[in-house]
Amino acid sequence: MPTRPCWVEIRTRAFEDNYRFLSTIAAPHGELLAVVKADAYGHGLALCAPAAVRAGAGWLGVTSVEEGVAARALCSDARVLIMGGVFPGQGADLVRHRLTPSVWEPFQLDEIEEAARAAGLAPGAFPVHLELDTGMSRQGVDAAALAAILPRFNAASPLKLEGLMTHLFAADEADGRVTHEQLALLEQAVDQMQAAGHRAEWLNAGATAALLAGEAGTIAALAARHGMKPLIRPGLALYGLAPVFDPPFEGEEPAALQAAHKQLEPVLSWKTRVMSLRSIGPGDVVGYNGTFVATEPMRLALLAVGYADGLDRKLGNRFSVLVRSERAPLVGRVSMDQAVIDVTGIPGVSPGDEVVLLGSQGGQTVSAQDHADAAGTISWEVFTRIGPRVARIEV
Ligand SMILES: *Cc1c(COP(=O)(O)O)cnc(C)c1O
Repeated sequence: MPTRPCWVEIRTRAFEDNYRFLSTIAAPHGELLAVVKADAYGHGLALCAPAAVRAGAGWLGVTSVEEGVAARALCSDARVLIMGGVFPGQGADLVRHRLTPSVWEPFQLDEIEEAARAAGLAPGAFPVHLELDTGMSRQGVDAAALAAILPRFNAASPLKLEGLMTHLFAADEADGRVTHEQLALLEQAVDQMQAAGHRAEWLNAGATAALLAGEAGTIAALAARHGMKPLIRPGLALYGLAPVFDPPFEGEEPAALQAAHKQLEPVLSWKTRVMSLRSIGPGDVVGYNGTFVATEPMRLALLAVGYADGLDRKLGNRFSVLVRSERAPLVGRVSMDQAVIDVTGIPGVSPGDEVVLLGSQGGQTVSAQDHADAAGTISWEVFTRIGPRVARIEV
């Protein structure tokens, strides 16, 4: 356990509660896949993957084969979906660790088929999810390429077409227009697949925004029309946040989103301690390049956190953290390993005092969304940038 006081506390019970809550939103429509890619959005895969399974998750979603191997070591029975595709040389690990890849390139099918045959798998024994590009232009086959790739799932192949997958890339736009266009393209692809004589069990679509926008029912209805089961893939909401819908809903928010605002609990708190204190006077400057100049006597506290820990450098001179249940502004530039706060108006601050960078203290809260707004980014990036040298501790 590192002894430098810069750590993250993870409430796995909150994570489990969030999973159960999201299941109630998805039910009776469909099943959830718990997205735990990128070290569980910086929360720690080793803590969150088992918590998801304890809460009832049958599926985990990760980006890469490496992440999948790590998830498999933690959760021997869960289905593990590799959402970021397959690279040459990864087939053997996929087969050995029973990972389920999303695929769309013929070379990916070659790679997996070869590994499955080498392992002696029977025809149709290795499930894959075929990714469809329904408009994001990121990964997946489009309608034209679908016809060419479907014959790869033939009776002689060890591959089984278990799922059709797509990514809804604008489900946080409240009017739902883009999402409904994508779902229409998805339905055409399902029709095309079935007309070619193929069946797939899972219709794998939708992340947090689609789920909280109330689209679970739409996706489930589409699946039901084709005898498929919906699999919805929330990430962010498992960690306690609802996305910001932009543009927002006109009038009432969907019931799922209203419930989420009430029910979701933040999982992560990020903390450090005051290392030392000093007093400065008018004209003294603080930090690299003296971007902050004191105009009156001030009391400053030094914190054991910097941008190498994931505290965005853009927060210098424009963000506050919590100490002694008060907001203390960051002054000067954030350094690589340290930052300085103004505690002039907060009596009694001493070395060793706990400082909350993200989370709650004495009824005040600093959220990941607050960090994101101040740094000009999104809460996903705030979480995933908390660095590897920051210990993740289960509380
Ligand atoms: C990250 C990711 C998700 C989860 O997204 P959230 O917005 O965090 O819920 C779902 N599907 C895919 C393909 C992803 O890459």
